[in-house]
Amino acid sequence: MRFTNISKAHWFLANAIFLLTILSTTLVFAQANGPADALWELYKEGNFAEVVVQGKLLINTDKETAQVNLAVGRSLVHLEKYDDSFVYLTKAVQLDSDKTWVYAWGQVYLGMANWKMGDYARAGQAFILARDCNATRNATRNATTYMTRLGLSESYANWQSFETDNFSFLFSDRLEDFDKVKFATRHEEAFLNISQWFGGQPDEKIRFLLYANQEEADEAGVGTLGFSKPTMFLTHARIGQTVGHEMTHNIAFHALNPQTMTGLINEGIAVHMDQTGRNQLKRARKARKDKGGESFNVSIPAIWKDWTLAPDEYSYPLAGAFVARLLEKGGKEKFFEFFTDQSYEHAQEIYGQDLNQWVREFEEDLYK
Ligand SMILES: [Zn+2]
Repeated sequence: MRFTNISKAHWFLANAIFLLTILSTTLVFAQANGPADALWELYKEGNFAEVVVQGKLLINTDKETAQVNLAVGRSLVHLEKYDDSFVYLTKAVQLDSDKTWVYAWGQVYLGMANWKMGDYARAGQAFILARDCNATRNATRNATTYMTRLGLSESYANWQSFETDNFSFLFSDRLEDFDKVKFATRHEEAFLNISQWFGGQPDEKIRFLLYANQEEADEAGVGTLGFSKPTMFLTHARIGQTVGHEMTHNIAFHALNPQTMTGLINEGIAVHMDQTGRNQLKRARKARKDKGGESFNVSIPAIWKDWTLAPDEYSYPLAGAFVARLLEKGGKEKFFEFFTDQSYEHAQEIYGQDLNQWVREFEEDLYK
């Protein structure tokens, strides 16, 4: 995963851009002086439970409109009551026969609810309907983004799905000499190892898309492979990646619930747990020499604070080796305590004076 700093809240808050566009669209269109107006006010405040209570009251007193159903259905999705949301979202799209923004957002949320229930086929159908009615730019964009991220767009039409206990795999049709059972079995074994080590795991299957190459990802309109979005229980990978790296991002996130993440630690743990058993310190030393040796010294505190200071070929093995050192010196229990806030300052707090000594020793080893 290419790392960007994020902090975790609820899964939909982690998709805050989506939520903001949803809210702004709602505000623009909710000027109709209909029975749903008060609901949208509550919705805007994030008071989803109250939207459900008041919305159901309106529905039971024959004041239901497409918008009322939409507000209730969307709120239920935000409350993670996916099963309950279907009847309201379906009613909303049925009542909006002109296929306005209500229909479009109803389909987006039907897509989301089906996805969360593990029904990817229905999720894909709903996102396509949301996109193709082209009612509002934001709904269209949301539907398109979900479809691409989840492997539900037309680019993936010929891909092969393969379900296991902990993964919902989607394999490219361009993979050659590919043994899907062997691939899946290796991933399940690694998943058990890694989740046992962390003492926890995601409570949903990991949606795992496997590409033949980067070119294929470019054609589908996704970013540089591989990457993971733990809030979406999602990995996009290409053939040839280590078995453990991307799943560690998903498992670590859900097992330890980090609130503040840094590249050094978040990538470091994924490299350390990549299941290759490679000597990462050796790899980092070699990468440093290849890049010009001494002229390329980046201190650990510096790269801890700014992950972009070194090229990936160097920073990734360095991070893996450093996390291994932290675990060796401070133990797993302290590491888990530290992991929730991965900042340098928090490490100083958890490990105290020892940290400076460990960092100095590590840098000396690195520059040998
Ligand atoms: Zn990564």
